Amino acid sequence: MNSLLKIFFSLLIVSFIGCSSTSISIQFRDNLSKKTNHILLNGKIAQFNNDSLYYIDGNISIVDGKIDSILTEIPPHYNIESNITDLKGAYIYPGFIDAHAHFLYQGLALKSIDLSGTKSWKECVKIVEDFIKNNPNEKVYRGQGWDQNDWEIKEFPNNSSLEELSSNPIILSRIDGHAILANSIALRQSKIDINSVIKGGEILKENENLTGLLIDNAQSLLSIAKPTNEEKSEALLAVQKKAFKYGLTGIHEAGLPSEDIILIDELQKKKKLKMPLYVMVSESPSEMNFWIKSGPLKTNLLDVRSFKFYSDGSLGSRGALMRESYSDRENHFGFEVRSTDYMKSAAERLYNNGWQMNTHSIGDSANSRMLTIYKLFIDPLKKNDLRWRIEHAQVVHPDDRLNFGLGIIPSVQPSHATSDMSWATDRLGPQRISYAYSYSSLRKSSGGILPLGTDFPVESMNPLYTIYAAISRKSLDKGSKESFQIQEALTREQALIGMTRDAAYASFQEKEVGQIKVGMWANFSIFTSDIMKCPEDSIPKLKVSETWIHGEQVYVNHVK
Ligand SMILES: [Zn+2]
Repeated sequence: MNSLLKIFFSLLIVSFIGCSSTSISIQFRDNLSKKTNHILLNGKIAQFNNDSLYYIDGNISIVDGKIDSILTEIPPHYNIESNITDLKGAYIYPGFIDAHAHFLYQGLALKSIDLSGTKSWKECVKIVEDFIKNNPNEKVYRGQGWDQNDWEIKEFPNNSSLEELSSNPIILSRIDGHAILANSIALRQSKIDINSVIKGGEILKENENLTGLLIDNAQSLLSIAKPTNEEKSEALLAVQKKAFKYGLTGIHEAGLPSEDIILIDELQKKKKLKMPLYVMVSESPSEMNFWIKSGPLKTNLLDVRSFKFYSDGSLGSRGALMRESYSDRENHFGFEVRSTDYMKSAAERLYNNGWQMNTHSIGDSANSRMLTIYKLFIDPLKKNDLRWRIEHAQVVHPDDRLNFGLGIIPSVQPSHATSDMSWATDRLGPQRISYAYSYSSLRKSSGGILPLGTDFPVESMNPLYTIYAAISRKSLDKGSKESFQIQEALTREQALIGMTRDAAYASFQEKEVGQIKVGMWANFSIFTSDIMKCPEDSIPKLKVSETWIHGEQVYVNHVK
């Protein structure tokens, strides 16, 4: 730009002071004089058109972490002083967002005893034993990931084989976080004994002795020292690193107490934690008092505007609340973690104060009662934009499913279907399984909104596994070639939209993230292959080439 023009534009900008900021930014953009922080050259830029996807061959300029322009050609006078990345024809997708995960818990799990993928309880005990031998000075031994449904003997374990291993507490969480096996020392220190009682959960007993197994609300009775803030900070940074590798640029953290939310905010302000997080507050009367008084929290990286509730437990540990008895346990209907009256009055409080309600509901009874409660607050005529969410929406009776059409959001995890397919029919029987994990039907009922997540660490963090599970309905681990209820599969585009545009919508962030559009955060997951066209079986093996968050390249892996 020649100097005369520069003076002209400076005057123009000065003359705009006092006008709306939009006017100024339009002037900047039209004149292409604003300092560009970064330009991504030669990308295939994914764009959504309703439920379809097309690519623009072009370039993206980034200013202050946001997409400033998408250009098919770079004008010769464009102000490129800074960084240029030549993508050499790579595919740029909107950054993946996991719409339901446990980020901190996954971070802590990275440092604990990993019992996932074990084939027997005996194998678990050996792993715990070896860990204790190698780490003799731990005050508390924590493990996670066991799943009795994967074992030959598909029964809950008891703590007798843990007793000899250590004189310190041992706490082993089931893969879904809905059951814990604790050794006697852990139970004693927590004052849990044969006379302890709990609502909305179960303390398992055998011949008038505790087995050490605590289900759902019973887990809250354990009062063993929690991880310190330092340990939590380390865990968050460790899991962030892993998340970047998988192309994740946003996480919906499905439930944390205030103390952890404050820690996250501090780490983000120190620029150590770069992962944008939409955090649901773990509900309790005192948390509701605190947050309703202080109001929602919104920064560039943190969004707190919702509460996470539990309506029931999980199917794997028979805690999911069912209308009819479990097919594999007579006269057992699961657990009502919170009463209907409690849920109703909490919903009213949230509604009156403009908060979003997100409720874990797995069983058909849990889903039915929560949809009925949500409906009390939705006025179809006024179209109030509550975006209240049902987390998991796993076993939803077809009659209840129609309620999602009122603007209630089903937030689902496609890899749950393929992980559970080998045993879910045992729990539900042939009739109820026919309307379980019905993702395509749920999407139709909700008017095309279906945010997708993994629920990690319950499932792998890799978003490509979610795409694969959603489109193929095949299990990766079990080497099965059979698809589970293939009529409920999503298209590749729908799966990608679920992890980007729909996830953004479910957190009220659709103007900020979820698509590659001018004005949105420059969050990208970049691949050298076309995820929409590559062979289906190759999807889980694809590697992320680059991950960008707020205009910063946070991960790069250029395989030559
Ligand atoms: Zn969860």
